[in-house]
Amino acid sequence: MEIPPHKLALHRRPFYVKLHDARGYLHYDLRLEFERVLLSWALPKGMSYDPGVRCDAIEVEDHRREYGAFEGVHESGTIMLWDRGMWEPHSECVDVSACLRKGVLRFTLYGEKLKGGWMLTRTRSSQNTRTVWKISKEPDSFARSKDARSILEEAPYSVSTGRTLEEIERDWGQGQGKGKSGPTLF
Ligand code: MN
Repeated sequence: MEIPPHKLALHRRPFYVKLHDARGYLHYDLRLEFERVLLSWALPKGMSYDPGVRCDAIEVEDHRREYGAFEGVHESGTIMLWDRGMWEPHSECVDVSACLRKGVLRFTLYGEKLKGGWMLTRTRSSQNTRTVWKISKEPDSFARSKDARSILEEAPYSVSTGRTLEEIERDWGQGQGKGKSGPTLF
């Protein structure tokens, strides 16, 4: 089924990528807003623009969408808003729930760091009872070769404040954000 571009735009929703230092367990979190929640995966090694690299994406609980843009110190550790933008399922995945059930979700990211087509594929393996997916880049004009610099190294700072995790933690300790109740995050 071909869907014209102006109709596809209706399926754009916010996405967020966090960098999360969970007391020494440094990982990224991918959050795709869908049906009033944030579908969430923990990415222990982030993601790669090289289509040949498939990174683990560990399925975790849906998160509240109010906390999509949160940056600061939470009881689970220090959290940076690493990237943000809109995501849009590819035409065959406009029924997002059906694609999630099937275990293959293809989508475009319109982020400040992450762009172009990406794919989440569910595997049969699990870690601590959690389902493991793989995230990989589609081979489009945004893709990079395996020798290209990693986006994680090229653009390591907060997309909203330009800070490092250390700076976010230091600023928090100096009062910024103190007294706010922490969201439930993994
Ligand atoms: Mn996390």
